[in-house]
Amino acid sequence: MNEFELIAQYFKSGDGDALLGIGDDAAIIPAGEAPLTIAVDTLVDGRHFPHGSDPASIGHRALAVNLSDLAAMGATPRYCTLALTLPEFDADWLSGFSKAMLALAARYQVQLIGGDTTRGPLTVTVQVIGCQQQPAMRRSGARPGDLIAVSGHPGDAAAGLRRLLQDERPDTTDVLAQRFLFPEPRVALGQQMAGQASAAIDISDGLLADLGHIAAQSRCGAVIDATRLPLSPALLAAHGRAEAEMLALSGGDDYELCFTLPADGDVSQWPLVTVIGHCEQGDGVRVINAHPDTQTEYQGYQHFG
Ligand code: ADP
Ligand code: MG
Repeated sequence: MNEFELIAQYFKSGDGDALLGIGDDAAIIPAGEAPLTIAVDTLVDGRHFPHGSDPASIGHRALAVNLSDLAAMGATPRYCTLALTLPEFDADWLSGFSKAMLALAARYQVQLIGGDTTRGPLTVTVQVIGCQQQPAMRRSGARPGDLIAVSGHPGDAAAGLRRLLQDERPDTTDVLAQRFLFPEPRVALGQQMAGQASAAIDISDGLLADLGHIAAQSRCGAVIDATRLPLSPALLAAHGRAEAEMLALSGGDDYELCFTLPADGDVSQWPLVTVIGHCEQGDGVRVINAHPDTQTEYQGYQHFG
């Protein structure tokens, strides 16, 4: 049973007045004029980051991955809460962790309003609350013929993680490692895309897997043209074409946005955004024009796969 089947079997959305419940990047609840958008994500030591990671990176990522879920909805982040489980009191660790998390919070004008602190295996849970001033980008709105676009350079973070697992201390000039350690949530882009995109998701588990959620919930198929993947020069230099394509398609942790938009949509106004394919009748995600050595079967990271 994978995590999605587990959620569907044991935690079906109950009755209530939520505007959007289980199944998207965030939930939306009514609140006066602008609804509130809420997401929560947990990072577990040794599973979501290598054991012994820089505490600044852990603090940054714990908030960034949540801001990324709000970005995928087109929401404006406002508040967060922090549930922190620590094996021991460590002043240096806490200082590095909190400074990085609060620096990111300040950049996005997010206020830390509460949380919980306990002793146990290192686990960080952050919940974010945002304001849905724009129409939300759902996973279910894509239609055959829509363009598929992605922000940034997918694959970099997965390559960076690989490097971190081989060499614990790559320096700050290592752009691939930095993309894993300090991902930039695409909050402004999400807000700009809301109202234009037909569907959106953030890439946490890999492009194939996450685009697969859009396809499944939109009841259509998706085609990615591998020659259009925005592979970064650093990724190509480190891994070559075939491996770079595989990392971009299947590697997680990028926290870029993947979205669909009507066929006459224009992405040239957003320098960060590249069209990589289109939606079609059918189901699933197909990759065309891949390098002959590229395997396109892998469907992304699953906790209970
Ligand atoms: P994301 O990768 O965007 O954070 P997930 O893949 O973790 O989303 O979760 C998929 C959906 O299932 C989300 O809408 C999430 O809120 C919901 N979900 C995950 N775990 C639970 C749970 N234990 N109970 C209820 N809903 C859950
Ligand atoms: Mg998400």
